[in-house]
Amino acid sequence: SAGHVNWDVTLRVDRLPEADGEASIRSQRQSGGGSAANVAAALAGLEIDTGLIGSVGDDDNGVLARRELESAGVDLEGVRIVEAGQTAVKYLLVDDDGEVAVLGNDGVNEAVGPEEIDERRIRAADHVHLTSQRPDTAAAIAETATEAGVTVSFDPGRRLGDRDYGEALAAADVLFANDRELAALLEDEYEYVGSDFDDRIVAVKHGSDGAEVHTPTGSYVHPGFDVDAVDTAGAGDAFAAGFIATWLTDGDVERALEYANACGALTAGREGARSAPTAETVAAFLDERFD
Ligand code: ADP
Repeated sequence: SAGHVNWDVTLRVDRLPEADGEASIRSQRQSGGGSAANVAAALAGLEIDTGLIGSVGDDDNGVLARRELESAGVDLEGVRIVEAGQTAVKYLLVDDDGEVAVLGNDGVNEAVGPEEIDERRIRAADHVHLTSQRPDTAAAIAETATEAGVTVSFDPGRRLGDRDYGEALAAADVLFANDRELAALLEDEYEYVGSDFDDRIVAVKHGSDGAEVHTPTGSYVHPGFDVDAVDTAGAGDAFAAGFIATWLTDGDVERALEYANACGALTAGREGARSAPTAETVAAFLDERFD
């Protein structure tokens, strides 16, 4: 997984602040975050060997972020520690419905350039997952993976509108987007319903309403699982991890969609962005639903 590594400060508020409004803070907790790091930790939790490419500062938050990822079982050899750098800190405001607003800075998150990518590690992988990061770095990783026949997935996240991720998009075997991001794809020069995306898997996430997946041979819809949403941060990352893990293992898109929804729902039901379930928890959750 390649992209951002953050330190998250989650603030529970009575309501998400309007442009000129105020919200009162009820509680605070901290944990690791950042889309790429969340996906890496979620994959490791699903018992997939996972390495992370990204950067943190040499500050306390960087130490904490690396420590959490290490104990989750993520290989951090590809994580650069930037001297005198500041690890990205995000403030996640979460309301009673689990809806999230994100503030904060990117710190040294974009320190890794295309020339720094360890190509051997990418060639040796079964799969590469790209998230929001420097477009030139994403392009270099995508190119190396494609040349080596390594499958690629891409979740551009909220940055899609203002950055040109053309190479990563072109390389992606699997593309993840929520409704908002899909709209950005449609608005842009990328043609979702055109030939550009007809030859790959496109997973569109609909929050509590589940998700749908379009493939060259057919489409699947999953209504999602009914859970009490506490904090939806990281749900999309857990969804991606669940989808990749299942798809890589057995190539079954419909099963991957169901598994991904279970991962997303379980993550929405727990606090923090780093709350993706283990393989055991997902199995128990799915058993319970279908017995
Ligand atoms: P993103 O975080 O990328 O915007 P979503 O919010 O759509 O993505 O969440 C990703 C997935 O997590 C959804 O497709 C769904 O499976 C699950 N999910 C998210 N929110 C909820 C919720 N409130 N209840 C149940 N499942 C949820």
